[in-house]
This record gives sequence, structure tokens and C-alpha cells, in this order.
Amino acid sequence: MSALIFPVPEPVCASCASCGGRDGRGGRPAAPRPAAGAETARGAALPPAAARAGTPRNRPRILPIFLPFAGCPSRCVFCAQDVQTGQRGGADSIARAMEQAEARLKQEARTMDTAREADATQPAPGPLEIAFYGGTFTLLPEAERAACLELAARWRERGVVCRVRCSTRPDAVTERGLANLRAAGMDCVELGVQSFDDAALSAASRGYAGSVARAACAMVAGAGLQLGVQLMPGMPGVTPEVFRADVRTALLPDNAGAHPLASFLRFYPCLVLRGTPLAERWRAGDHVPWTLDITVDALADGLLAAWARGVAVVRMGLSPEDGLDDAVLAGPVHPALGQLAKAEALRRHVAAQVARLPGPPVRFGVPRRLRGLLWGHANGLVDAYAAMGITRAMVYWRDDDNFSLE
Ligand code: SF4
Repeated sequence: MSALIFPVPEPVCASCASCGGRDGRGGRPAAPRPAAGAETARGAALPPAAARAGTPRNRPRILPIFLPFAGCPSRCVFCAQDVQTGQRGGADSIARAMEQAEARLKQEARTMDTAREADATQPAPGPLEIAFYGGTFTLLPEAERAACLELAARWRERGVVCRVRCSTRPDAVTERGLANLRAAGMDCVELGVQSFDDAALSAASRGYAGSVARAACAMVAGAGLQLGVQLMPGMPGVTPEVFRADVRTALLPDNAGAHPLASFLRFYPCLVLRGTPLAERWRAGDHVPWTLDITVDALADGLLAAWARGVAVVRMGLSPEDGLDDAVLAGPVHPALGQLAKAEALRRHVAAQVARLPGPPVRFGVPRRLRGLLWGHANGLVDAYAAMGITRAMVYWRDDDNFSLE
């Protein structure tokens, strides 16, 4: 009996921490992936995963430089950047962040030099990717933005930094401004789109329309910058259906052969954080957060949609900064949210293939690297796999990046 062999659908990025398989200079697509469900004789080799989409081996480490609320025209209803980033913000926050970054980069340079001197045959630690996060980078006062870019360029010249990215709002970019950023060494711009839906954007008082967000995505990609799109399932006005539509829009264009403009996505399910206007709405009963089950269900669909277009989802949920737990009043918070969603997406991917078998499955090969993920967080998917006819006894671990079903 021949086996049904199909690859892990998640794109793996070869060159950076979050590009979803594109290179760092404006969007060369990942190597083409074999069609899921390609049927071969048992054991017939599909191309190894590393040849298809690279390995994470060479990803630069990220050095986040948090600039809480810097440049933001107003405070968004759900946002508590000081809590989310663990940084205080305030008038001197940019200067403080730059001082800390400078000290860290000096330390990195020393570590690299020491490693090279100690053993020239061993590779020194790789360079860093600077990420200006936590505010609206493109609306920073000119002098402060220039100081940020100068710091990045200086350390790039010394080989300590290899890439630079920033985050901003869709209504805070212009073609000219993006061209200037590109010329100053910016590689990637992440847009805090949150939603493309006009009603949701209005309900969350975001201050721009979906057409502005779509145009901003096109502008970033058109400027030769990598584009990252951040979406917020569960934001006021964003239902699961709206979120699914947002993911589809974030993956445009969908004409044959065209790679999406976005190199990668981030999903940040909306939490009610202490001290935000959203907390007041929630207390008044005007905002109902998504449950964890609804969130995982929608995220799993979003993951599958993104993976089907070769786009990685590089983050699901806020980073666990100090103080975040205390600040969360309500919402789908879980320490393993990404794992929950990924495991469920993989289960759905496998279920679609099980349905193609002529009879019940008897053997199930799984890439060894998924050992900790297959059965879900705390083995929560064992019963769901059993319902598909897959038990632990029939699983074996494969050394390539393909599943196989017999
Ligand atoms: S623009 Fe972004 S960083 Fe600024 S308040 Fe709004 S969500 Fe927060």
C-alpha cells in the first residue's frame, strides 16, 4: 500500500527572524513548496525541508528597542505599550532606550571580538537585527528618528547589526517617507493594521479606514521594504468572521502566481489591559472579549490560510513581559497560546489528508521536530486525533519534514 506523503505546511524562514521565507531586501519569495498531498510510494523522498524553505540556523537575533507611545498621535483603546514592553515611556524614554541599546551593542561588539580572538576557526556570534517597537516610528520627531537610524547604521557598519525594522501605523506612512527610510537603511516595516474592516476600525477608534490600511501595505512593499502585518483578533468590532476576512486581505494579492505583499503576519488577540479605555468599556459591559476556545479556533484558521500562501505567522499573543499578567483584566490569555493554535492547525491539516485515505489510518509518520507539538498543549488533542482514527501506537517519527499516512 502506498503512503500519502505531505509536508508540514508552516513556512520556515532561512534568513531572518520573521520574514516568512523571503530575503531581506524587498521580497524574493521562498523556494516553491511541493503541493500538499503529493502521493508517492512509501519512503519516496520529497526534497528535504531545508532545501525547500531553508532552516532557522542563520536567523539574526533581534535587539528590540522599545519606544513606548513615541510618535503615537493618540492612545489606542486597547494599548498599554508601557505594560506590553516592560518599559516606562515618558519624556526621556527615547534617550533612555538609545542609551541602553548603545550599551548592549558595545557589549555585543566586545563579545564578537573576544570570540574571534579566542578561536578564529569557530564562528563568532552572529550580528543582530535592531527592531524599533512600541510606538509610531514614522511619526517620531525628525531628530529622534534620525538618531535611531544613525545608531542602527553606525553599528551596521561595524558588523554588529545586519538588519533594521520598525513598527508604525497604516495612516502614518507616505511614499516619500518610506523611500527615505529605505535609503537610511530600514529593511522592514511592520504595520499595526489590526483590522481592514471599516466598522471594526471605527468601533476601536483607530482613526483610519480599511482602504488606508490596504494602501499602506502596498506602499511599504512598493518601497522595497519587507512588510509585516499585525492583526488583532477580538478587537472591538472584530468577530471571528471579520478576522478571517482580515487574514485573507493581509494575504493579498491572490492572483495566480503572485506572492502576497506581506512577508509575515503577527496575530495579537485583544486583551483587556488595566489602565486602557478598553478596560472602562469592559467594566461597563460594552466590550466582551473572545474566549480562549474561539481565539484558538480562529487563529488555527488564520495560520492555515497564511501557510497556504507561504507566509509565516511569527507571533501569536503578547510577549510575556514582567507585569503583563498583573495587567490583564480579561481576554484570551494563555502562556502557550501559539502552541495551542499551531497544534490545532496541524491537526486540521492532517484531518484533511486522513479524509483522502481509502480506509482508516494504520500508520502515521510525523516529523521528529513536531514531537512536542503533535498532541497539543498538555496532550489536549489526543482525543481529537483518536476521533480521526489516529492513536499513539501508530505514530512513528520521521527525520524529514513530511507527514505520511497509510
Ligand atoms: S499607535 Fe500603536 S503603539 Fe501607539 S497607542 Fe496605538 S496601538 Fe499603541
